[in-house]
Amino acid sequence: MLASAAAQAQSVALVVERFDPGTAAVDPAALINGANDRDFVAQAYAAVTPARDHAVWYRIRLAADWASEGPPVLAIFDPQGLDATVYLPPDHVEVRHSIYAADANAGFTRHALMFDLPAGLKASAPIYLKIKPDKAVPRRVEITPMLDALVRDLGRARLDVLFPSVQVATLLVMLCFFLALRERMYLYFVGHVVFVVLYELYQFGVGYEYAPFDLLAPLGGRAVLLTAAISIVLMIEFSRQFLELVRYAPRLDRLLGFGRWPFAALAVLAALPALLPDWMVEYALAALLLALAPLLLGAGLLTWQQGSRRGGFFLGAWIPGLLLVILRALQLILHWPLPVWLEFALPAGFAYASLVLAYGLADHTLSIRHERDVAHRLAEHDALTGVLNRRAILARLRAGFLQARETEEPLSLLFLDLDHFKQVNDTYGHHVGDQCLRALVGPILSEMRQGDALGRYGGEEFLVVLPGAAAANAEVVAERIRKRVEDMALLVSGRRIGVTLSIGIAALDADVLTPNDLIERADAALYRSKSGGRNRISTHPEAEGLGGETAFESSN
Ligand code: GH3
Ligand code: MG
Ligand code: MG
Repeated sequence: MLASAAAQAQSVALVVERFDPGTAAVDPAALINGANDRDFVAQAYAAVTPARDHAVWYRIRLAADWASEGPPVLAIFDPQGLDATVYLPPDHVEVRHSIYAADANAGFTRHALMFDLPAGLKASAPIYLKIKPDKAVPRRVEITPMLDALVRDLGRARLDVLFPSVQVATLLVMLCFFLALRERMYLYFVGHVVFVVLYELYQFGVGYEYAPFDLLAPLGGRAVLLTAAISIVLMIEFSRQFLELVRYAPRLDRLLGFGRWPFAALAVLAALPALLPDWMVEYALAALLLALAPLLLGAGLLTWQQGSRRGGFFLGAWIPGLLLVILRALQLILHWPLPVWLEFALPAGFAYASLVLAYGLADHTLSIRHERDVAHRLAEHDALTGVLNRRAILARLRAGFLQARETEEPLSLLFLDLDHFKQVNDTYGHHVGDQCLRALVGPILSEMRQGDALGRYGGEEFLVVLPGAAAANAEVVAERIRKRVEDMALLVSGRRIGVTLSIGIAALDADVLTPNDLIERADAALYRSKSGGRNRISTHPEAEGLGGETAFESSN
């Protein structure tokens, strides 16, 4: 910026005069020989302003003879849509430039139309310019030493590469996200950024220089409008999905859904051979953007207010970009000259927005994972007690069964049933019964090892799968659980409620053919614990382990 400010100081004072012949015919040969010299009117600013439906003429002179060492160049900035023919002194050599043609000055980027001027340019030798019809936005004109022009142009060339590179990097990452997640929202984002990059390439003029982008060169400035319109259609679609507008603001969602169509229509108009003059399409696009930008900001605000994180990301990403878009649209419509800072602030704003939105999308992926984890948890766990539900504990049992068969390791199953639980419900109410069931889990889990599994089989019945435990080990664990629950103090309204468990134990042996056999055996053993007086453990079959049924004195 400092360098360019210093270089700016090198541009010399100019006398700029304009001749607007209206639609009247002008003979260029006569004009450059001075026939219309008295028709030229002095301009307050060093700028050329096209007329929309006819060519206008400019006469530009140095205020003083060229004194710098290198040769001068004439630069006309904001060249989109411009077609200028310059008649160079001293012999009025005709040179025509537009950024859409191959004959643009190859030593420079296409941020300006650049004309090489003779080294000995005199203040007395005017340069005549013919400017073809275009939007009536003034374009800054400068005459500077060639070297300064090159140095400043190099700065622009760097920015031409920097901003699209940031965009391409984010779009590639998001493309990977799309390929992994297959969610269309990511594709809309990628598509939107692709067209923003293309828009920037044509806006910077780079697109007209290199294959395959130069395929759109015949469209001229409408390549910018075409790519901009498509990127906006994709941006609207992305925003609707990213903000979940159907949910947060259904009416705004419909409005934006409808709002895609004018932009799509403009894209078609821009792609077709000029049905409308370019400037009309350009003004229509600017006007539509002025309507769209507040809608998008409003959509972000509405969702953000309703607590959506994505609304926050959207606002954080787009507030600068959309404000710049509004400024740019106003600049066009109100015929302000394009300031250099705005020319580069726009792509900077877009690059920033892509980065923040990419972060928002990554955050979204994280929340998908979180939701999946929650769903997974809900699907596997019992809502009341938080232990594995029936389906999940049976799956664990099956898996343990298969593995034990394969490794010939032991496996045991405990079948737990609360004693006289109906009474607890009847005496204290169902709610207290539920509390008991919940309170039971901690003590039972504390007696289990890593790799053991506890699940609710139904009502007040639980299964404990003990991989690696033979009957004798299982009995020790069962007894510890029984004792632990017996000692458990559950206080309800200051009263201690005692609950006890009966447990049936079954261990894997050659006769057990299926996991179900094991459950049946454990259930049979449980029946014996119940009939034997409850608050005790029993092992199937009677003869095994500690000797079948083991009774313990209840402490109650
Ligand atoms: P026992 O097992 O010692 O023979 O007697 P019990 O009273 O526990 O009898 P049973 O196993 O047949 O009855 C189970 C009772 O458990 C019935 C029901 O009131 C209670 N129950 C089952 N599921 C729940 C539940 O989710 N919450 C509550 N509070 N009670 C439940
Ligand atoms: Mg029961
Ligand atoms: Mg019971």
